Amino acid sequence: MTNLNDLPIRDDLRGEKPYGAPQLHVPVQLNVNENSFGIPEAVALDIVESLAAEVLTLNRYPDREFLELRSSLANYLGYDLVPEQLWAANGSNEILTQIFQAFGGPGKTSLSFGPTYSMYPNIARLTLTEYSQLDREAEYSLSADFVAGELARTKPSIAILCSPNNPTGTPITNDVIIAAYEAFDGILIVDEAYAEFSSLESALGLLAGRPRLLISRTMSKAFAFAGARVGYLAADSAVIDALRIVRLPYHLSALTQAAAKAALRHSDQMLANVDLIKQQRDRISAGVRLLGLKPYASESNFVLVEGFEDPNDIFEKLLDRGVLIRNVGIPNTLRITAGTESETTRLLTELALVLD
Ligand SMILES: *Cc1c(COP(=O)(O)O)cnc(C)c1O
Repeated sequence: MTNLNDLPIRDDLRGEKPYGAPQLHVPVQLNVNENSFGIPEAVALDIVESLAAEVLTLNRYPDREFLELRSSLANYLGYDLVPEQLWAANGSNEILTQIFQAFGGPGKTSLSFGPTYSMYPNIARLTLTEYSQLDREAEYSLSADFVAGELARTKPSIAILCSPNNPTGTPITNDVIIAAYEAFDGILIVDEAYAEFSSLESALGLLAGRPRLLISRTMSKAFAFAGARVGYLAADSAVIDALRIVRLPYHLSALTQAAAKAALRHSDQMLANVDLIKQQRDRISAGVRLLGLKPYASESNFVLVEGFEDPNDIFEKLLDRGVLIRNVGIPNTLRITAGTESETTRLLTELALVLD
């Protein structure tokens, strides 16, 4: 056995750690914004039958262009999108990586507004793209003037706006996205991983006539399909053509394609618990406020809560009591995913005891 530091690893990877949100099997898991509700049995059966049919032909490579799945995704999203405007990969993290491979790289720059999703700098580093992060405005909001001004000043090759934003829950209105698009000449990614939970209009309606606008989505959150690893993108078909150049051959397995298509046939059932989850999100916000804490306004399936003197201590004490939440590293805060009604009850009860 040798040590990582003894290997001729890339210089910029020395001392780096792998992504590592704790994967602990405790009764209440509210740490990575998954959907706490399982797959309905009738849907599961259809998925299994679809997978079974694929297994017999796994000797062949899968459909490289997966137009059937892209067509299912276009139908699901609406907005008159056509299959040629859709793309999919193993999670939206792979989608983002492919975008950076195609439009970033050495000599290119990328920009986002933090605190935001921790994978953006990692993906930039992986693709040798320079990354910088500017601070958000009050209450982690972003206004059109501010964003447009900063993009015009910094002129990044790629800008990422996460809406609603992880880990703060803050949405971005479409007028901000329009102003951002017009302010610079680069690629504008809107990461809508949590869009199904938001009461604001999606940016999908802005795609027509804006070929540098890319909307990234995922089946991992509202769609209750995190384990299947399916992320997708809606954009101009020319953008998709760029991603087809950098993707690895046959990157989306036949099993993944079949499972995703089957799940999308039942999108109503897969999304059935979104309203319940939003109610639990609002219940968490009201509950922590009663405990003297400050919940940030959220349009997502999680709440960023401020007011902990020692967040790590609270995190550990909750974990001892079977409740796993997330310390995202913002001082005095913890992030809590909204799940089932009983999970909220357990969380609020244990949190009150721990704070006492
Ligand atoms: C969870 C998340 C994703 C992606 O997840 P995948 O499982 O890779 O699709 C992307 N962006 C944000 C902001 C997220 O929180």
